[in-house]
Amino acid sequence: MIPFLDLQAINAQYRDELVAAATRVIDSGWYIQGNEVKAFEEEFADYCGSKHCIGVANGLDALTLTLRAWKEMGKLKEGDEVIVPANTYIASILAITENRLKPVLVEPDELTYNLCPAKAETAISRNTRAILAVHLYGQLAPMPGIMTLAKTHNLLVLEDSAQAHGAAINGKRAGNWGDASGFSFYPGKNLGALGDAGAVTTNDDELAKTIRALGNYGGHKKYENLYQGVNSRLDELQASLLRVKLKQLDSDTRKRQAVALAYAKGIKNPTLAQPIVAQSTLDDIQDHVFHLYVVRTTQRENLQKHLQKFGVQTLIHYPIPPHKQQAYQGLNQQTYALTESIHQQVLSLPISSVMNKAQVQQVIQACNKFAVI
Ligand SMILES: *Cc1c(COP(=O)(O)O)cnc(C)c1O
Repeated sequence: MIPFLDLQAINAQYRDELVAAATRVIDSGWYIQGNEVKAFEEEFADYCGSKHCIGVANGLDALTLTLRAWKEMGKLKEGDEVIVPANTYIASILAITENRLKPVLVEPDELTYNLCPAKAETAISRNTRAILAVHLYGQLAPMPGIMTLAKTHNLLVLEDSAQAHGAAINGKRAGNWGDASGFSFYPGKNLGALGDAGAVTTNDDELAKTIRALGNYGGHKKYENLYQGVNSRLDELQASLLRVKLKQLDSDTRKRQAVALAYAKGIKNPTLAQPIVAQSTLDDIQDHVFHLYVVRTTQRENLQKHLQKFGVQTLIHYPIPPHKQQAYQGLNQQTYALTESIHQQVLSLPISSVMNKAQVQQVIQACNKFAVI
């Protein structure tokens, strides 16, 4: 069976370096807010091209604390509207509602599954203050258009970059487009820790300072509290492991893109809609780092069973859209037909930096043998 994601094999590649890094931290006697976090923050800010990186406990906190910081800074207030794609992962929405802001869901672009500036524009009201642009499946949202729209309407832009480490348009990477960007280093993400971890990147000095305080009980100095903060910190151990894996991220990404290119060329089954790469060509992919390789079919259940029979494990991202979740009953009265059909039709094929050629061929052949019933 080809597993959907073999984390054991992924981390085994770096085992010696990971063990050395962990040992260094264990032996240092310093586990929170030390040199490893500081070094990782500098290295990741450099990687993204942004001025600041603030390590936090996870990706959800990265988004939640950024919106919270804007509230503390007087840039957002309770009830303000935040435009967000309806087909995103639940965490994007949770970050908004946790801050008592109002998510305004918009249907995505049908081909890229990302926010579409024209559709976002129709959702702007007197109360709109921000756009949460999600780089879904590893592909950058159309940031040039989104930034122009935001500028015209004086809106803040928060990127949800949890799936898009290193994705770029014209060389400018995720984490350096909006006013701020939230990253997750959940183990299965393109840059994955060996536990929970996250970060915010931004070029805004005051925002960086405010987020740092909010994640550390609300203060810059021990025992002095400016805000009613929380405890959301990246720890030394995870930072040391992330430093090891960050060095390999670009080469890992190229391996993912090679798998994607092989799928795109090899899968010749008209019943499966393949991912569309919007801002670049498949031979020179910049904007898509293929966190997921998502195909779409009206026969999803049959396809998943068929692939299972041929030894290919697949997953669904995601089975239930946020507006259909029990947690959000009554939040949005509207229906989102496109989002619902996407959630009924998408299927994620295995993709990672450790898949070998035989496995890639097995997936392709299994897809090509699928016939519509
Ligand atoms: C993973 C993910 C998050 C949340 O990250 P955690 O580290 O799991 O909290 C947020 N948004 C998107 C799009 C994600 O994929």
